[in-house]
Amino acid sequence: MKRSELVTAAPGPAGIDPAALTREQLLGWRCALCGTLLTGDRPLGTVTISQGPTLTTYPLWACDPNCTTENAWRAAIGHAAGCEACRTGECATGQRLLDAYSAAIRQEHAEGAG
Ligand SMILES: [Zn+2]
Ligand SMILES: [Zn+2]
Repeated sequence: MKRSELVTAAPGPAGIDPAALTREQLLGWRCALCGTLLTGDRPLGTVTISQGPTLTTYPLWACDPNCTTENAWRAAIGHAAGCEACRTGECATGQRLLDAYSAAIRQEHAEGAG
């Protein structure tokens, strides 16, 4: 199957697939990892997306200091519910969301242990 030619993109930071990001995530309104509306943010790096002849580089942002487990989990199940690729277990976006969730759990445990 041929990928869409409208959006071709180089892999972003932290294994992020730029084509899977929403417009709100590209504009920095929402966390690029979990999709939560940002209040505090930290820079993740940039992704470059080409639409026809136009190359646009977007800085990506994530929850600061980390995505909460609640937000990360909601993002993961929210994505998986509507994703064909996740059902066969071959979805990079689903994997990234689960990774964000595991990172959030580790972070919470680390804070709770202190
Ligand atoms: Zn987040
Ligand atoms: Zn998926």
